[in-house]
Amino acid sequence: MEAVPEYFGSLVFDDRVMKATLSSKVYQSLKKTIDEGAQLDSSVANAVATAMRDWAVANGATHFTHWFQPLTGITAEKHDSFISPAPDGGVIMEFSGKELIQGEPDASSFPSGGLRATFEARGYTAWDPTSYAFIKGKTLCIPTAFCAYGGEALDKKTPLLRSMEALNRQALRILRLFGNTQVKCVRTSVGPEQEYFLVDREMYNKRKDLIFTGRTLFGAKPPKGQELDDHYFGVIKPRVAAYMAELNEELWKLGIYAKTEHNEVAPAQHELAPIYETTNIAADHNQLTMEIMRTVALKHGMICLLHEKPFAGVNGSGKHNNWSISTDTGVNLLSPGETPYENAQFLLFLCAVIKAVDDYQDLLRISVATAGNDHRLGANEAPPAVVSIFLGDELTAILDAIENDKPYSAAEKTTMKLGVDVLPKFARDTTDRNRTSPFAFTGNKFEFRMLGSSNSISCANIMLNAAVAESLKIYADRLEGAEDFETTLHQMIKKTIKDHKHILFNGNGYDDTWIAEATEKRGLLNLRTTPDAIPHILDQKNMDMLTAHKVFTEAEIRSRCEITLENYCKSVIIEANTMVDMARKQILPAVESYASDVAAAAAAKKAVSPELACGYEKGIVEKLSALTDQIAVKTDELETVVRKLSDAADVIEESYAIRDTVLAKMSELRAAADEAETMTAESYWPFPTYGDLLFGVK
Ligand code: ADP
Ligand code: MG
Repeated sequence: MEAVPEYFGSLVFDDRVMKATLSSKVYQSLKKTIDEGAQLDSSVANAVATAMRDWAVANGATHFTHWFQPLTGITAEKHDSFISPAPDGGVIMEFSGKELIQGEPDASSFPSGGLRATFEARGYTAWDPTSYAFIKGKTLCIPTAFCAYGGEALDKKTPLLRSMEALNRQALRILRLFGNTQVKCVRTSVGPEQEYFLVDREMYNKRKDLIFTGRTLFGAKPPKGQELDDHYFGVIKPRVAAYMAELNEELWKLGIYAKTEHNEVAPAQHELAPIYETTNIAADHNQLTMEIMRTVALKHGMICLLHEKPFAGVNGSGKHNNWSISTDTGVNLLSPGETPYENAQFLLFLCAVIKAVDDYQDLLRISVATAGNDHRLGANEAPPAVVSIFLGDELTAILDAIENDKPYSAAEKTTMKLGVDVLPKFARDTTDRNRTSPFAFTGNKFEFRMLGSSNSISCANIMLNAAVAESLKIYADRLEGAEDFETTLHQMIKKTIKDHKHILFNGNGYDDTWIAEATEKRGLLNLRTTPDAIPHILDQKNMDMLTAHKVFTEAEIRSRCEITLENYCKSVIIEANTMVDMARKQILPAVESYASDVAAAAAAKKAVSPELACGYEKGIVEKLSALTDQIAVKTDELETVVRKLSDAADVIEESYAIRDTVLAKMSELRAAADEAETMTAESYWPFPTYGDLLFGVK
């Protein structure tokens, strides 16, 4: 194998390839489009397309595709080959500027949540030149946005780009107020830490629940779970190590900076973290990472589970969205600076985030709401469904001093006046091991921890960027009209701290007492489930904010509300149907056959010696017989509540019915089946157990 620098990015049409293959005029023009969003004219597009095709063909590609992220949660691609007939009966490889810039996939099979009725059925994809094209297999993939013909977004990239633009616009206004005239562009960056499980492929293939739903719907607790904490950061098993090595190579070839990897808390659970990048690129790369994780696992005889909660009673998988704001001049706006002005600016951006997270707690919760993530949020290992912010003791003390006009520490005699004093030097809280906070400041970035492992990071970042853009807009409006900049700034920061400190919480977010305090004393939202959360996207304040910043149109918001709830309902219904199938066709027959063999054994014993009590057999047969009755009843009941869903008037009502009836029936059925599992001989059980799955990869 070559050294990493030799093959890093070898499958990417990146800046190095552009420089080498494009004329300097074309290169400059493309760079301008990438850096400043300038329009690309058609002669340049044709030249880029030609260079891209030659490079792709030389690297083994035969097809190209516009690669996009529809609202299904995965990525989509429709492959076209480069070939075009030549007059002599042969073929030539063709790819035009027009084909590079725009595609026309049939939009009618992608979810549009009513947009199709309102607008035209056809959609188009548009090249995102800021995210490099790459080769996957034999296909040149061109990252694109996906819109309806009227311009309405049908994907996740379009609103993400719009939210980045909104934040850029407002952040620039603030920077200008601080006298900064150099900065041309402000961007957010994200480093998403990705958790996942690996299970043996043959075992997986024996479990219909994993195949159809990505998670186990049955399974008694194994004798050993994660209680010893002996897996976290432990020695990586040889099969997993081989997998990680190949995964890294594949990701590096695609120009993805996979950086760290380790075992997670649960057995069979692992994590991969890349180095952070500009948000839209990080989003593309995270989608690609999830895909490559799955395909590489197959090659190693394993399955990569990206579900948020593959195993009940065992930690679920999340995705930590490390997020920061920085300028094109290389300044991280969430990093405290050296001069008084820089510090005041830092505090203003910090306050903008605090205000945004408090004002739009609901949108952040909504951005991570899926059926899978509902099992995680509020369960034991994950952040709760209540959004709060961890700042660490030091920064909290600084804000407290500002709010109350107190000296920050005993050593300092005077109170802080922003713009005059340098912030007291405070150590970067690299020791932050408060892993329970949903939204934690970690020195120069915020870590949003509510994302589920299978979520696209786009959704969370759309809401985060938009909400922070709104805070910044309010600040900029005030400051631009202020007579005395420094006094107004100081007052605004003080007011933000006073108004929003109820969302700051440095304690243990898993604690039940916190949930009570958060909801009862502090008035924070606790949107426990997806049906509780999603409809709030339609609240007037949310509609107003998202449309004012042109992140979504009203029709887009309505369509997304509907699609998200539809996805929720469909996922749970598939789970319920899978349970019914497994209970009737696998579990009941297995338990029945074991019980009847035990009964037959007792009968055989009695035939030899009629006075034998056969208490053991009798006990088993009686208990299992009661359980099979219960399983059968619960299965029928589950089927009935699922059938009744068709009575719901709309998707919101259907989602409520699922939350209130279907999920409850599913857990009742599971409880009975899991109990039966603990009493049934191993050789009769129809599929691999939790013990097999969690400890099966050596
Ligand atoms: P942890 O202690 O959570 O493992 P790390 O410092 O290792 O934290 O970083 C975790 C993730 O945060 C990585 O993906 C890293 O690239 C990303 N990250 C680091 N600095 C920034 C930043 N300024 N903006 C966004 N992400 C960042
Ligand atoms: Mg982290």
